Formats: sequence, structure tokens, C-alpha cells
Amino acid sequence: MIKEVEIKSLPALAYNDEFVKSEILKQLKAEPGELTGYRTLRYSIDARRSPVQIVQRVQVALDEPLPADELTPLMYKNVGDAQKRVLIVGLGPAGMFAALRLIELGVKPVVLERGYDVRTRRRDLKAVNRDHIVNPDSNYCFGEGGAGTYSDGKLYTRSTKRGDVRRIYDLLVHHGANPFIRVDAHPHIGTNKLPGVVQAIRERILEHGGEIYFGTRVVDFVLQGGRVTGVVTRDGAVIEGDALILATGHSARDIFELLQRKQISLELKPFALGVRVEHPQALIDHIQYHGMERGEHLPAARYKLVHQVAGRGVYSFCMCPGGFIVPAATAQEEIVVNGMSPSKRDSRFANSGIVVEILPDDVAEFKKDGPLAALRFQQMVERRVWEAGGKTQSAPAQRLIDFINGKVSTSLPECSYIPGLTPVNMHEVLPEFVSFRLKEGFKAFGRKMKGYLNEEAQIVATESRTSSPVKIPRNPETLMHPEVGGLFPAGEGGGYAGGIVSAAMDGERVAEKVVEFLQKLP
Ligand code: FAD
Repeated sequence: MIKEVEIKSLPALAYNDEFVKSEILKQLKAEPGELTGYRTLRYSIDARRSPVQIVQRVQVALDEPLPADELTPLMYKNVGDAQKRVLIVGLGPAGMFAALRLIELGVKPVVLERGYDVRTRRRDLKAVNRDHIVNPDSNYCFGEGGAGTYSDGKLYTRSTKRGDVRRIYDLLVHHGANPFIRVDAHPHIGTNKLPGVVQAIRERILEHGGEIYFGTRVVDFVLQGGRVTGVVTRDGAVIEGDALILATGHSARDIFELLQRKQISLELKPFALGVRVEHPQALIDHIQYHGMERGEHLPAARYKLVHQVAGRGVYSFCMCPGGFIVPAATAQEEIVVNGMSPSKRDSRFANSGIVVEILPDDVAEFKKDGPLAALRFQQMVERRVWEAGGKTQSAPAQRLIDFINGKVSTSLPECSYIPGLTPVNMHEVLPEFVSFRLKEGFKAFGRKMKGYLNEEAQIVATESRTSSPVKIPRNPETLMHPEVGGLFPAGEGGGYAGGIVSAAMDGERVAEKVVEFLQKLP
């Protein structure tokens, strides 16, 4: 007989085999001899009240073997000599998973990535952190693995309807991710492990006959008779393909501008903008775990907050427990912050984006820019923040309490952001309609999480790359641009994903549609 039980326990007991077995036998009123095996299908944390408990859903076999739990099988073909070739611009999660899926379906992917491989990319990250130099082709957003490589690697997604999340987890495990992501209710990989996974995916693509070109920025499309037949790279090379998957992410402003110049339709998309807030992790643990010692069995605590202020959502975004704030600008004269964390989430800091929803009405001053209005607003704020920070990657910051009381901080707490901080009055740096909502939002968060408005908490600007400010339209059926044959926008840049897993799922879905398109070609 195969059954499922739910076991709630103190964290120290959750991973204890003897304890779990005894709970199973108690709940199923079974004898030890009947238990042939068990497997935890999901671990989650119930921190709603004290003491904090770990809840696990367990599959149990009595008097029969436990069903096998195999990873999704890999079915890659050799596509070295395949007749059709598909250009993929961008090797982020959308591009990587599109390439893998094309190989499964017998089509050759040719990937063009403006940034470098994970190892070379590290040198450029060091240059931003240490020398304040932003390479526009290789940074925290651009390069092998895209924006997801030097990130937190959180893998939870709300887009479960758009694809098979489990399949993506399995593919990540096949390429080196910890199998615990398959059972954790809030899985993450960590920035120290992600480059290995990304590299394994690259090797898989190459080993099956796909091609990848790093340091290759696409600057134009070749269009013939309403169809895209190739791209032009920065060096002037023309690369031909039967279709093009455009997976350039939310920060490829030159691609949005190229599309607008070529009169390929785009749409303005709401996004969100604000600051990153950082607290000592021990404080967040204390609040979320009700003063209970975290110990070795509980992870660094996370939180999720949302509040409505004057008709706009103010919410936490990409919370990174035990992490670091990183400089995620993609050009020299702007400051953009984001968060990442290692697999153990063991830094002393907890950071999170706290952002305000930006709707079309809010960017009315950029109306003349049409679909790029929200992008122009985003660009304007990032530049203003760069000026306020002293025109380096040093980021404007303020103690949270001082922000609420409207005064410049006389000193700032220690921060995980390496390039350094400049004390400012954030109300003078951010647009007023954003800063007053942030202030009211923070006050509400302080009421929801007692201790959140702490002397040691500070805000750092600007969190502005939460999602794409532009949408590249596509036909809901074919997933192709309605005006350009063979052009398939994919992932976050087109507005079809909001994170690593949703971008990966979108990449797969687009690859499948591209193959349908190729089958209809003469
Ligand atoms: P991207 O990952 O942005 O990839 C686009 C790629 O296209 C880039 O590599 C870029 O170099 C390339 N490109 C752009 N223009 C061109 C061109 N003209 N020619 C050639 N190549 C080009 N998401 C999560 O789900 N969990 C997290 O924990 C998380 N943490 C994050 C932390 C940080 C620091 C950052 C920056 C992002 C984080 N995100 C996280 C967001 C996540 O990384 C993105 O949602 C995801 O990577 C989007 O995937 P994508 O493939 O659509 O685009």
C-alpha cells in the first residue's frame, strides 16, 4: 500500500530517520515490519507561531516497494548536422533552456551572447566592485547564465501554469544542482553553485552539436520579406538562421531601441522601482522565528511583505537571506542594486528589494517616448541616483529610521555592498511619488514585523530592474512576433517571465513553437 502522511516536528527532529519512521508508524497504525520505505516529497517551514516547526509530506510504502523517483530523463540528440539552425540571442535561463529543448527536438541552436563565460565574467564583477568600472557587455546582468548566475538562485515561481516547474528542477539537478531543490518548498541554489550548473549546461549544448559564441553582441536583425533571416554582430558579421529567439533579458536597452528604430512594435509595461533594505540577519531570524534560536536545522529566515499605498502596491522583492547587495548596473553612469546569496546563506545580512509599482500614468512625462516611456523613467532615476552617490558605483544610502523621519544619517551601519555608500536624504533622490509610498510602506511593514524598523536597518538605492519596463508582443498561439516572421521573444526581456524558473520554462515553450514554425517552412 502507498500512502502519504504529514509530519510536523521541531527542526532538530525533522531529518532524524528514527523519529520520522516512528511518526509514520504511529499515524498509519502500522507495525515496523510493514514499512518497506518512505520518502519526503516536500519540506516547508511553519513559522506562523512559536515554536517554529518543519512540516514534511511523506510518501510511505507498506508491504510493497516504494515507487521509484527518477529524474526526468535526458533525451538529447546530436544536432551537429541538423538542417535547420535557430539563432538564440542571450544565454540567460530563457536562452539556455531554449537551446537544450531545441537539441532534444533535433534542431541546432546557435547562441550569441554579448558577455563572457562564467569564469571570465568574474573579472568584470571584480572591476565593478573594486574599481567602479562597469563593462556594458559583462556584468551582474550580462554574461553566461544571464542575470541568474550571480544571484540568489531562488527557484520558486508563481508561474506554475506556464510550464512544468518540476522538469526544470530535474534538469538543474542533472546539471549539478543539489537534489534537495526537488523537495524544498522554497528552493534556491546560491551564487557559489550557480556558475557550475551554468557551465554544465553550456558543455551539454556544445557536446550535442549546438554552438555558443561569447563576446558577441547582436546590434541588428536581417529582415527579408517580413521575416528575420539573420543578425548582425557588433563586428559587422552577418549570422544566418531559420528563426531567431530573442532572449536578451530586461536590461538590454539597446535591443529595445533597435526594435523601435526598425518600427517593430513594442508595448509599455508596468514595472516596479524602489530601494534595497538591509538588516542584520540575526534580527530577521529573531523576528521571524519568534526569538527562538535558529540552530543548525533552520535556514536564515526570509520574509515577504506587501502593502497598498495610495493606489499602488509597495512590496518586498527578491529577498535574499544571508546574502549581499550587489552593483547590478549595465552601463557606467547609473546605479542599480540587486541581491545575491551563497548556497548556505550564511552572510550576516538580510537584504530585500522594497519597490513601488510603476504604472503608465506615473511615467506620463516621458509620453513622447511611446513604448519606451517606462524605460526612460527607469533610466532617469538610475542616473539621478548615480549623481547623488558621487558619480561612482558608491550607492546612496540612509538609515531606515532616518528615512522615515526625513533626516540624513550622520553615520551608516556596516553594509554588504562592496563599492561603498554615500549618505543622502533618499526623499530628495527618488521621485516624490515613489519615496512617500516607500515611507508609508515601511511604516506598515514595521507594524507587521515588530522590530523591522531598527536602528541597524538601512536602505540603498536603486532597485530598478525588477522586471522589464517594455513588452515585446507575440501571438499567444505561435509565440511569434505578430509583425515579423521567425522572431520569437522569450523570457524576461519580452515580458514573459519574472525569474529564473519562469524564464527557463518560457525558453522551453518558445523552442517548441519554433520547431512547429520550422516544420511549416519550405
Ligand atoms: P537574462 O538572464 O537577463 O539573460 C539575457 C542575456 O542576454 C544576458 O546574458 C545578456 O548578456 C544577453 N544579451 C543582452 N543583449 C544582448 C545582445 N544584444 N546580444 C547578445 N546577447 C545579449 N531570479 C530568480 O528567480 N531568483 C533569484 O534569486 C534571482 N536573483 C537575482 C539576483 C540578481 C543580482 C539579478 C540581477 C537577477 C536576479 N533574478 C533572480 C532575476 C533573474 O536572474 C532573471 O529573471 C532571469 O535571469 C531572466 O532570464 P532571461 O533569460 O529572460 O534573461
